[in-house]
Amino acid sequence: RNNDNEKVDYVYKVVVIGDSAVGKTQVLSRFARNEFCFDSKSTIGVEFQTRTLRVWSKVIKAQIWGTAGQESLPFIAQEDYNSMLPFSFGHQRWVEELRAHADNSIVIALIGNKADLEEKRAVPSEDAMEFAEDQNLYFFETSALTGDNVEAAFNKLLEEIYSVVS
Ligand code: GDP
Repeated sequence: RNNDNEKVDYVYKVVVIGDSAVGKTQVLSRFARNEFCFDSKSTIGVEFQTRTLRVWSKVIKAQIWGTAGQESLPFIAQEDYNSMLPFSFGHQRWVEELRAHADNSIVIALIGNKADLEEKRAVPSEDAMEFAEDQNLYFFETSALTGDNVEAAFNKLLEEIYSVVS
């Protein structure tokens, strides 16, 4: 974990989108503060959270935006985001919206969260993987509860942004 006073080389903006209650808020707080809140009120608000970390030799400040119950993307499309993290479940629709509105150079990763609830799995891994491959997206199954893969997903995303923008 880097400290926030370190000199920042780049600021990358990431936005998380997806159906409500899939765990966007909790994945964010796991990544930004290494916390999970059991009795959280759903949904982040348009606020963002930041975390500063090293990607290869660079100090990257990740600015991660939530989307407060937004059911569509028009307001996001106005902004200049480096990457998007659509969450699984309604993934097809979200990815279509992204492709329609976002810049071509945007980096997209698909997240299937709540991987700890295997017995309640809604989307088979193989289906999500196949979809991600078709659409040329990174795919991660995460758990905000255990922290599994959250770091890996964001790291991959930030590395990819770095290689696209630099
Ligand atoms: P959002 O509406 O997409 O922001 O969803 P939240 O982050 O508010 O999460 C919705 C509910 O799912 C909350 O009760 C969370 O505690 C729970 N939740 C979020 N992530 C996980 C996870 O990885 N595992 C489990 N078991 N529950 C989770």
